[in-house]
Amino acid sequence: MSKFKKALSIGAIILTCSFIIATLPYYKTVIYKLPAPKPFAGDTFYNPYQTTGKQWIKANFHAHSIMHFGLANGDNTPEEMFAVYDSMHYDLACISNYNNILPNNYPKRYYLPAYEHGLNTGAIHRLVLNNQQADRFDFPFYQNVHHKQQVLNLQKSEDNLVGLTHPVFKTGYSKSDLKYLTNYDLFEGISVRATSIERWDEALSHGHPVWVIGNDDAHNTRFGTCGVCWTMVNVDSLTKDEVLKNLKSGNSYATRGWVGQEMNRIKGVSIDSNRYVLELEKKSDSIILKSDFGKTVAVATHANKISYTIQETDTYLRAELFDTEPWNNYTKTYLNPVVRTVDGTCPSNRATLEINKTKTWLWRMGFLIFQFVLGVAIVYLLKMILKIK
Ligand SMILES: [Zn+2]
Repeated sequence: MSKFKKALSIGAIILTCSFIIATLPYYKTVIYKLPAPKPFAGDTFYNPYQTTGKQWIKANFHAHSIMHFGLANGDNTPEEMFAVYDSMHYDLACISNYNNILPNNYPKRYYLPAYEHGLNTGAIHRLVLNNQQADRFDFPFYQNVHHKQQVLNLQKSEDNLVGLTHPVFKTGYSKSDLKYLTNYDLFEGISVRATSIERWDEALSHGHPVWVIGNDDAHNTRFGTCGVCWTMVNVDSLTKDEVLKNLKSGNSYATRGWVGQEMNRIKGVSIDSNRYVLELEKKSDSIILKSDFGKTVAVATHANKISYTIQETDTYLRAELFDTEPWNNYTKTYLNPVVRTVDGTCPSNRATLEINKTKTWLWRMGFLIFQFVLGVAIVYLLKMILKIK
């Protein structure tokens, strides 16, 4: 056997074995009985801005620092990252490295443990806030809606908050996935990597009460990577529990702008006899109200107030603010929606899902056959090549 053929045989065997080992997690696949989506219904609206606390704080929950000698997509140390956010007067800046929680070893006003979960080729990622440990289990290649749901179920607990990051990026989360996915709290509608507001509307229109967050997803401190997208959270006091509580209830909003510079703030949102009223501290270039599937239902220009009577066909209503200045190109703010409920209490995106045992075992058997056929095909191909003189 020539040296080339020998190297080829060894290479093929190593590749096949690596693939089989890397795909072992697929034998844990679970197929759920996903219930049909139920749009928000009821005559009482849940208003996430019903009671606003003492102050708004500016936060970034998604950024990466250097890890594994720079192999994990971060270029700067945590100190360098925090210094940039301090210079833009952020109250809270999280480092959310891949499957790794940064310890509380840095002098900061707030510490909120965070990590970005995901070890797969499709950039199907989640942000996990307030876990003490990172759970690393993932499906490394293909993921259907059941795989995505299974990972969310593994990540979600009573004490943490889970968000979908950059949903439109690469394979991410399709519109069809978002009809069904449950057991997560937050939706990264805007980041430097992706604008996923259309997908957020898809989740909302199918009755999933998930709240918008804006994050830089910064991987370095270069100018224009930090301070582009951020989240404002309304809190009573400067504590981690207050931040988590208000993120969980949607008492927050997301902004895309420049160097973390706020252009406006919410004064209040009220609902009286189906009449939605939003008041701002200053006039905005445009205030746009959106309903199901992102349909524009009202616009006000050069105004600090907008009101609209919610129609029977609107299952939720949310606002966007648009401002331009010569120095910032534009600033756009996305408020959380008011949603229809039966009793006005904060709805939750939690569900206990039943497993379809037959489909689960059929899927696993199918995968075993796939691996077997692939192995046989590679051996056959190798034999053919080795026969060629
Ligand atoms: Zn990511």
